[in-house]
Amino acid sequence: MSIINFAVIGYGGMGSYHAHNLIPAESTRFHVVGTYDISGERQQISKGKGLHIYTSLDEVLTDGNIEAVLIATPNDSHKEIAIRALRAGKHVVCEKPVAMNTEELDEILAVAKETGNVFMVHQNRRWDPDFLIIRQLYQNKAIGDIFQIESRVQGANGIPGDWRHVQKHGGGMLLDWGVHLLDQLLWLVDSPIQSVYSDLSYILGDEVDDGFMSYITFENGVKALVEVGTTNYTKLPRWYVKGLEGTAKINDWDLSGEIIAATGRKDVAAPTPIQAGVGLTKTMAPPSEEATEKLAFPEPKADFVPFYQNFYEVVREGAEPIVKNEEVRKVMKLIDDIFKSCPKG
Ligand code: NAD
Repeated sequence: MSIINFAVIGYGGMGSYHAHNLIPAESTRFHVVGTYDISGERQQISKGKGLHIYTSLDEVLTDGNIEAVLIATPNDSHKEIAIRALRAGKHVVCEKPVAMNTEELDEILAVAKETGNVFMVHQNRRWDPDFLIIRQLYQNKAIGDIFQIESRVQGANGIPGDWRHVQKHGGGMLLDWGVHLLDQLLWLVDSPIQSVYSDLSYILGDEVDDGFMSYITFENGVKALVEVGTTNYTKLPRWYVKGLEGTAKINDWDLSGEIIAATGRKDVAAPTPIQAGVGLTKTMAPPSEEATEKLAFPEPKADFVPFYQNFYEVVREGAEPIVKNEEVRKVMKLIDDIFKSCPKG
């Protein structure tokens, strides 16, 4: 089948990663022709890499050789670029967060429907190895039914870059990392949300949130804590997940951690009380040796194809998208609700 020619709009950190890593990795399916960026400096870097330089968005959109565009500009510009590209007959891959809010997303989706062009959001962290391990545990019940999920990312470097500090550009950590963690969670737990309580943090004094905590309860009883922090000088585990028959902990993207499961043996000795601080406890003593076992992490394999392969199959063969727009909309709506509810407590 024929190659899809791409143009990259916004050749910054993520745009250049798409241009040189993600799209070329699928080179039998795609070719990156060129880039458009409002920064002359970024355009010169792109030129130095042998890419064609477009001097305006219109020039990209009127180039009949371009079949698809990748949007990797600041968040407040996604909507306008996506709508113009779809109307110009291009298929679109858009970086996360898809838009500033659900209203904007609905405008994009209406145009995608009207034009029949493919619009897919790059929710790439559905392919993260740590998430794939948790997803397998959730599905195969190796630690029993999972009833509590803690999903965190924590750093100590504050909010990075320039536009991420500015509200009108869609800055802040809820829209930046939050959208990844919430997308993973809502894709994992196939149940409507019953309630959400969130707290955005403004420790660094920016006009946008530098982190947040969200407590989410699903109708099936699963409870989750989602946290993003940028002022954490030492970190908690990336995942801490409790099932009825075990607990899994993944420390970081290096996949260190452990899964401890109950053996279910009936003949185990009762735990021996231990001295804890200045007191004595049996409740918090380690379980006897026969009561638990360490399980190996499952291979972090996806039972679905890579993002760009899927995009190709959606465009050329009408395949089902892995990242569905209604799922993206659910996450966007949740983010809207968090922003709305926080000031009211
Ligand atoms: P960046 O600041 O590094 O790059 C943005 C680029 O867009 C800059 O070069 C800027 O000059 C250019 N630009 C700004 N407005 C433009 C416009 N109207 N037309 C053309 N070019 C324009 O930002 P970034 O970190 O690359 O983030 C870009 C997008 O990618 C954001 O939406 C961000 O959330 C997303 N992102 C996604 C991931 C991921 O893992 N999926 C990671 C990082 C960033």
